Amino acid sequence: MTSWWDLIEGGQSTPEWPYPIRYGQESRISTDVLVLGGGIAGCHAAISAARRGASVVIVEKGHIRRSGQGGAGVDHWQAACANPCSTVSPEEYTRAIVDGFAGYDCGPMRYAQCRESWDAALDCERMGVQIRDVHGEFEGAEFRDPETQLLFCYDYESRHSLRVYGDTMKPCLHKETVRLGIKTYNRVMATSLLTEDGKAGVRVVGATGVNVRTGELYVFRAKATVLAMAHPRREWVFSTELNGGAATFADLNIVGDGHAMAWNAGAELAGMERSYDTAGGFAYIQYGVGYPDNTWFGCTMVDARGKPVPWFDGSGRELAAVRDRFLPRDGQKFMLIGGGLTGSSVTPQTQGNHIDDSLAERIRSGEVVLPLYADLPSLPAHERRAIFGLMVGNEGKTRVPVYETYTRAGFDPDQDMLQAPIMPPDAYRSPHYPAGVSVPQWREIFGGGLMVDWDLRSSLEGLYGAGRSVYGAGDHSGAATSGRYAGRRAADYARDASGPAVDEDQLETERARVYAPLQKRPESMGWKELNAGICRIMQDYCGQFRSEETLLRGLRLLAEVREAELTRGYAANPHELGRVLECHTILTVAEIVMHASLARRASSEHLDFRRLDYPAVDPPEWRKLSPIRRDHGEVKTRDVPLDYHLQPPYASTYEENYVAHGGSSPDTGGA
Ligand SMILES: Cc1cc2nc3c(=O)[nH]c(=O)nc-3n(C[C@H](O)[C@H](O)[C@H](O)COP(=O)(O)OP(=O)(O)OC[C@H]3O[C@@H](n4cnc5c(N)ncnc54)[C@H](O)[C@@H]3O)c2cc1C
Repeated sequence: MTSWWDLIEGGQSTPEWPYPIRYGQESRISTDVLVLGGGIAGCHAAISAARRGASVVIVEKGHIRRSGQGGAGVDHWQAACANPCSTVSPEEYTRAIVDGFAGYDCGPMRYAQCRESWDAALDCERMGVQIRDVHGEFEGAEFRDPETQLLFCYDYESRHSLRVYGDTMKPCLHKETVRLGIKTYNRVMATSLLTEDGKAGVRVVGATGVNVRTGELYVFRAKATVLAMAHPRREWVFSTELNGGAATFADLNIVGDGHAMAWNAGAELAGMERSYDTAGGFAYIQYGVGYPDNTWFGCTMVDARGKPVPWFDGSGRELAAVRDRFLPRDGQKFMLIGGGLTGSSVTPQTQGNHIDDSLAERIRSGEVVLPLYADLPSLPAHERRAIFGLMVGNEGKTRVPVYETYTRAGFDPDQDMLQAPIMPPDAYRSPHYPAGVSVPQWREIFGGGLMVDWDLRSSLEGLYGAGRSVYGAGDHSGAATSGRYAGRRAADYARDASGPAVDEDQLETERARVYAPLQKRPESMGWKELNAGICRIMQDYCGQFRSEETLLRGLRLLAEVREAELTRGYAANPHELGRVLECHTILTVAEIVMHASLARRASSEHLDFRRLDYPAVDPPEWRKLSPIRRDHGEVKTRDVPLDYHLQPPYASTYEENYVAHGGSSPDTGGA
């Protein structure tokens, strides 16, 4: 293969664009259910809707076989409360998580997850994913149930979450979509939602997309649409030059296109003011350094002199044996661990075992000497292989860059320790320490997204949400289950819905916007500069500390960028066209975040949200959601109780609402 250096040193010109250019050409497609985003939630939504008898189309920016955050794998499958060994009910798990997030979580989506996570795992098994230790690799291990051959993680007593061999997850989902006759448009970036009569705030009737290899425009007409393009990223910090694997923890293609499209169509978004600090491109390769949580949970950490760092339970009691790390303390029903469920996101009742209680102090006092190392050799053999083998071998982004590369280079977990990130003492308190040292002004949106009802329907008729498109925290099984649920509801709606019609004026406006970056001007700029400029505004005007004055200044600057620099964004080929259009998204999402931050006139520990002009932290009158939407150019907000999903017109229990809205996951068959 010719490298960049070969071209430069050999004096050759840059290669020709390898795909046919089809700017201005257009395809029109009609379907019952349109799924935007072919990641975990999107695949499950499409499969679910197709099994319900609907015609289904998926639009995917990358290639469905490996796209999205679950594309490279999954090692832990959470909330499988209905598995035969679990001692935790869906209701208990839902309440524990919703309470852990102080109510700022999506109750309907969380309950559907706890009810259907096990069914979804069985469904994936039927599609070919290995969810059990069928080869007896861990026979005799405490975390293995001999009868079912299931392998559990984190909490070996209550057994609510599984270790899975999830490296093949996306290829198996992809195969199932093909088997069901679902048509996927790969390499097509969805760019806008189409609405009835081209108006905002009304029924959604489809979407537009542009092929990021050929530049061809696609017009999708649909009775129902499922938004499954995950959450926004790259608003505050982004660089492709620093650390490819960790320039963003998520997939590079994920920027929040769905959020921007929903906003432009007039849908309500909730929780967009919430964010946390990140290390951005300065992060270590995810899970490629030793640490004691999530994928590496339970690992012994030692300091530079080989001295073990102590472990504690949720009550602060030091744990003596390795085994104790995986067991709830006396009187504790179950622990919540992994996938960001640490620190402030769990209640004292479900607080898991951890090493960080006094580590910062011990480092400061010199008792613990940096750097730390993950001491794999000292672990019992099954634990060692569960981490460096099963977990690191199947976790997203780790199989090839970490497991295979380290192994090929001679790393042997039976003998070798792996260094942990070198960090200042306080970094260990961050729930995101696997990524390295975070900076307060560099942030990532956490959990903001579509406001939904018990059908996972947005505020717009015909538009449903799944996975990280929806407000609230989420993980892999949460995406799978909400996809199944939303797919069912969308298919049911489509069955009785009238035929959708495309408004040609709306389409023309979008066509002009999509192709505008193809015009080269003397002052043109590339997508990386645009992305960096927007990030700088977000860092300076919407960082950790916010105030009305600063946010309004930030909004003015963003408006200037929209009028000036954004119109000068230039794309030399269809790939760059997609990247420039992503900058349109990033700018829109930045505006949404600033508006949402203006709407919340109080600070909040739970949301990691600080208003200098409203310093009261979590005052009772602000324990609520303040979803926002755009209406005729104005931003509208309203107050919604955190438990709106258990208030009239809904029933007061999760179970009743779930059943009334088509729960019970009847669509796992079809094999
Ligand atoms: C490295 C890593 C490891 C993880 N490991 C675990 C784990 O072990 N367990 C766990 O529970 N969770 C894990 N997660 C989280 C989990 O992967 C996500 O919660 C889950 O994938 C979210 O599903 P989703 O469908 O919402 O988003 P995704 O799976 O990310 O799918 C979004 C899809 O939308 C597509 N898309 C985006 N924009 C457009 C557009 N404009 N047009 C068309 N398509 C578009 C993307 O290409 C992508 O395919 C991990 C995440 C990462 C990043």
